[in-house]
Amino acid sequence: FSLCCLVQIKDDWPGYNLDLFTYPEHYHDDIENVYIPHGVIMDRIERLARYVMEDFEDSKIMVLCVLKGGYKFCADLVEFIKVLGRSSNRYLETRVEFIRLKSYLNDQSTEDLHIIGSSDLSFLRGKSVLVVEAIVDTGKTMKALLKHVETFEPKMVKVAGLLVKRLSTMTESLTDYVGFEIPNRFVVGYALDYNEYFRDLNHICVISKTGKMKYKI
Ligand code: 5GP
Repeated sequence: FSLCCLVQIKDDWPGYNLDLFTYPEHYHDDIENVYIPHGVIMDRIERLARYVMEDFEDSKIMVLCVLKGGYKFCADLVEFIKVLGRSSNRYLETRVEFIRLKSYLNDQSTEDLHIIGSSDLSFLRGKSVLVVEAIVDTGKTMKALLKHVETFEPKMVKVAGLLVKRLSTMTESLTDYVGFEIPNRFVVGYALDYNEYFRDLNHICVISKTGKMKYKI
């Protein structure tokens, strides 16, 4: 990765004070700050859509959205791909399929990858595939998913990750389109959850100690 293509959020970035933005009142004590405001997320996704348009030579792509965390990112990315297609006269046809994975309990990554629902991805055979995932942390989930995807022999596979944690070099090499590289902090919002809470928060925020305690299972 060259630095020009990476939005890096530094280790000492404190986020914005909550009072500077609006957010659901019920989360008042549960989040520390607004880490990435919704508008910035959208602007960055628009740029990622451009990278995707430039890279995919096929006129059709199969988008594989990783649920549940990836649903907002996927919807907004596909929308920007459509808008760019209309304004550039090079229309990229998108078909969206979903896969549901679970590897987290509370804020801890667990070893095993669970595919919930159908694991038959034979519709990917011979296709140009874009895997869309909200966050890549250790990269274990993505690695396991890519291995599974490859068994269906797609023509090409690229990965879009809205957030990539700055932990190891592995996560970066797994992700072709990175929205933001972030420090190792547990973030929620924009469809990212903590035990199913916070999906209804538009900004990406850092969870507070109170929030962690309150929604722990
Ligand atoms: P990995 O296998 O890369 O360690 O973990 C990837 C998965 O862990 C993601 O799909 C996501 O569900 C979850 N995850 C990792 N870090 C975070 C985080 O900071 N916030 C939230 N909400 N989920 C995370």
